[in-house]
Amino acid sequence: MAQKKYTVTAALLYANGPLHIGHIAGAYLPADIYVRYLKSQGHDVAFICGSDEHGAAITLQAKKDNVTPKEIINKYHLMNKKTFSEFGIDFSIYHRTSEKIHHETAQDFFSTLERKNVFIKKTTKQFYDEENKLFLADRYISGQCPKCGHEHAYGDQCEKCGSTLSPEELINPTSTLSGSTPVKKETSHWYLPMQKHEEWLKEWIENGTLEENYHHDPKTWRSQVIGQCKSWINSGLKERAMTRDLTWGVKVPLENVKEKVLYVWLDAPIGYISATKQWASENNKNWENYWKDEKTELIHFIGKDNIVFHCIMFPIVLKAHGKYILPKNVPANEFLNLEGNKLSTSKNWAIWAHEYLNDFKGQQDVLRYVLCATAPESKDTDFTWADFLSRNNNELVAIFGNFINRVVVLTHKYWNGIVPSCNELSDYDKEIINKLNNTSIIMGEAIENFKFREALKELMNLARLGNKYLADTEPWKLQHANKDRVETIMNISIQIAGSLSVLCKPFMPFTSIKLNNILNLSKEKWKDAGMNIIPNEHQINKGIHLFEKIEDAKIKEQLSKLTK
Ligand SMILES: [Zn+2]
Repeated sequence: MAQKKYTVTAALLYANGPLHIGHIAGAYLPADIYVRYLKSQGHDVAFICGSDEHGAAITLQAKKDNVTPKEIINKYHLMNKKTFSEFGIDFSIYHRTSEKIHHETAQDFFSTLERKNVFIKKTTKQFYDEENKLFLADRYISGQCPKCGHEHAYGDQCEKCGSTLSPEELINPTSTLSGSTPVKKETSHWYLPMQKHEEWLKEWIENGTLEENYHHDPKTWRSQVIGQCKSWINSGLKERAMTRDLTWGVKVPLENVKEKVLYVWLDAPIGYISATKQWASENNKNWENYWKDEKTELIHFIGKDNIVFHCIMFPIVLKAHGKYILPKNVPANEFLNLEGNKLSTSKNWAIWAHEYLNDFKGQQDVLRYVLCATAPESKDTDFTWADFLSRNNNELVAIFGNFINRVVVLTHKYWNGIVPSCNELSDYDKEIINKLNNTSIIMGEAIENFKFREALKELMNLARLGNKYLADTEPWKLQHANKDRVETIMNISIQIAGSLSVLCKPFMPFTSIKLNNILNLSKEKWKDAGMNIIPNEHQINKGIHLFEKIEDAKIKEQLSKLTK
């Protein structure tokens, strides 16, 4: 496979709270699995993420907590950066949108689009809070949802029924800052008339062509992503304000314009580009190779609530600016629920990543495994502690860990840890070897098609195959009668163990390191997996347990934490 360049982005995390398992399962873990796989294939990858540090919610929270927005973003940026790193989410850079390079990049986008007449400027009447003397961002306005009747819908969205709203649609709107009824006041903004881009967007999303040239295969896009885009386009794209009356954010770079910032969806996605610039400058690379070279594959990992921004709005901005590539795929996930209910930060119905790290020390891979095995790739899924326990004890411990343990113990018992030779093969051996050699191909294809659950299943099937092979051939019964046969069986089993260490790395990087240490192996390339990964007479080390059984009591503790 020829080496290619990839720019892989994971949704910028809003820096007003800690990371939870819904975030990890939604975007960051699949992105990390994908990137680790690409790297093991020898590709050149920029893996981009960071904190989204602007927007009304941060100023609102700062006001409530009586601190500055800067204090909030500093706290959560550092906290989340550390948590990601401890979970083995291995970004090339975890940047922040409060950096100067980002403000300059976002302002350049605005100025270029303004110069090219991409925007239209309009004066409208908008909600204004007279007590606080400011225009109210959509999030600052609350009222009754016109679609479902929910009493506390926000000006941009109803969290009950999920409808996207505009503040004008709310029944009995009030300011969440003062509780007063806002008045309408004139203000001017720059709008992106998205309807003007409908034609090429439709062609790009439905056929994967751009100005009649092949761009991507639309069959590789998830049906929910295409479905959501089509429904937006079919119901008619509208113009959307790209500026806001706020003081916290990227300032509109025009003279005589005061107290206006760029709309967060013009600001945050450009954060991927400014982060790439920063990373490139620190690593002696040219950032333009990752954003302007048509051979580079751009992939956005996001949750389903961000589909419209990454598949419609950001592509319009990139194309209108000119020279930028568009995403080859946007493998958005659905939502992960928790114990049958929607995850909720405000109701504390969540498993916080930093708390998990503290409660389950050294067990990052267990959560990575469970979150990938139950990932909401095509529909919403449910995380339960009972399932977590069962997957750890019945799969990781009983299948994967048990197989490795048997291989290592037997190799030490018979040959002091020195790998025996592979002698004459039976038909059954050949069948096993064939399956072993095929696993990396099947897993690779699944990962390239963003089917991470399927790939993980194949990984566990390989460990299962190893266990079955040992159980069927019973080398411990043959040690005296047929030494040649035992050597062959164990050689094949050791090759399976070695392959597992390479193939598990994208999913369980900490386990891969442990397994490499046990096997005294430093193989990192995907193509190394297979029958010849470990040579004869190679010395392997004594084993340690890869996984530990988790007791019921530990899970009960976690459940009681939730309902506190
Ligand atoms: Zn509603």
